[in-house]
Amino acid sequence: MGRLLIIGCGGVAGVAIHKCCQNSKTFSEICIASRTKAKCDALKEKLEGTTDTKITTAQVDADKVEELVALIRSYQPDAVLNVALPYQDLTIMEACLECKVDYIDTANYEPEDTDDPEWRAIYEKRCKEAGFTAYFDYSWQWAYRERFKEAGITALLGSGFDPGVTSVFTAYAMKHYFDQIDTIDILDCNGGDHGYPFATNFNPEINLREVSANGSYWENGHWVETEPMEIKREYNFPQVGEKDMYLLHHEEIESLAKNVPGVKRIRFFMTFGQSYLTHMKCLENVGMLSTSPINYEGREIVPIQFLKALLPDPASLGPRTVGKTNIGCIFTGKKDGKEKTIYIYNVCDHQECYKEVGSQAISYTTGVPAMIGAALVVDKVWDKDGVFNIEEFDPDPFMDMLNQYGLPWVVDEDPQIVE
Ligand code: NDP
Repeated sequence: MGRLLIIGCGGVAGVAIHKCCQNSKTFSEICIASRTKAKCDALKEKLEGTTDTKITTAQVDADKVEELVALIRSYQPDAVLNVALPYQDLTIMEACLECKVDYIDTANYEPEDTDDPEWRAIYEKRCKEAGFTAYFDYSWQWAYRERFKEAGITALLGSGFDPGVTSVFTAYAMKHYFDQIDTIDILDCNGGDHGYPFATNFNPEINLREVSANGSYWENGHWVETEPMEIKREYNFPQVGEKDMYLLHHEEIESLAKNVPGVKRIRFFMTFGQSYLTHMKCLENVGMLSTSPINYEGREIVPIQFLKALLPDPASLGPRTVGKTNIGCIFTGKKDGKEKTIYIYNVCDHQECYKEVGSQAISYTTGVPAMIGAALVVDKVWDKDGVFNIEEFDPDPFMDMLNQYGLPWVVDEDPQIVE
């Protein structure tokens, strides 16, 4: 019996909300609140009558702490699930703190305006000190640790797939398979085809920023940075086949480097087809990926936001996407003095997801773990005061719920490794 306030009503939220409605025992009531209330109302209408969960909706600008506080005070939720954008992480955390309510999200903080001089000064100092140049990092949210602890509330960071499930796979490998993990390769493969020359599987702005940035990996206690797409490997993914994959910077590397004692190397690879990369390079070369506003015929526009308006809405890809995703982690290390390698992964079929909840597998693989993380917090199975990354909790109940809610996983004890 719990009450969840869900902020955002895009691709990921749509799946998380469907899944909450499949778990009415935990989520007896949910409130869907977002910038565009009509989307929340449409989803409520679609789901009502199919679930015992009582659904209400609200309009909120999650950039404004005072609006969030007013909504939380009037709805009185047990927890807030943030599936809006990373730009809203800090305002939502701030509101949760003020109202003493638990917080869950799927992506770490990133500023909307990377030209903001105040943010830029802190960013540049962090680039020098930490050694990676991604616009997003955990320092902003980790800075809330003491205040959440004092308030006696939980912030669960990164309850999507990657970060999220991949981080829980790591905690599970540490708990059940290894005395010492030496290396982690996180492999994110989307073998799906939506038939468009170019589209992104989740929010285009967030996706294109991530993919066009420098790559980086963690090795022997420090970051090694690469040019974008500099490191390429081929991998034969179970149930998907041979794909090209490229090394990217990814946020869970930062927390896993802290939370996996003695780990020597952590890398993240994502698959991309040539057409995607060619389009992206072209858009970047002409300035369409820029986040800096320009003046166009007397009106200020941000090129990447304009591009977003032109691209297909990720939430609309569901009916046309066929194929499978395969996301997981290869671990090497030692158990009882012996060398060991395992690969834990999930395979998810785009069309199966569409049949079940009306969306493609990328939103599905993020929305399911968002619901699971929220359920474990609301049910107090995961209950620690402070700000925590998901691998800091007991992985077992989460792994059980993955099997139960549509993301079954496999442990391969003799996998192909990545050079
Ligand atoms: P979408 O763009 O589809 O949805 C974002 C939603 O947030 C929209 O409903 C939008 O409203 C709403 N929103 C944006 N700004 C505000 C605001 N100021 N106030 C209130 N609501 C707002 O994004 P996705 O669903 O694809 O992604 C959601 C989150 O999931 C992102 O943080 C993304 O980074 C994360 N993610 C995490 C992954 C993981 O594996 N960990 C993988 C994929 C995504 P409107 O409808 O009006 O535009």
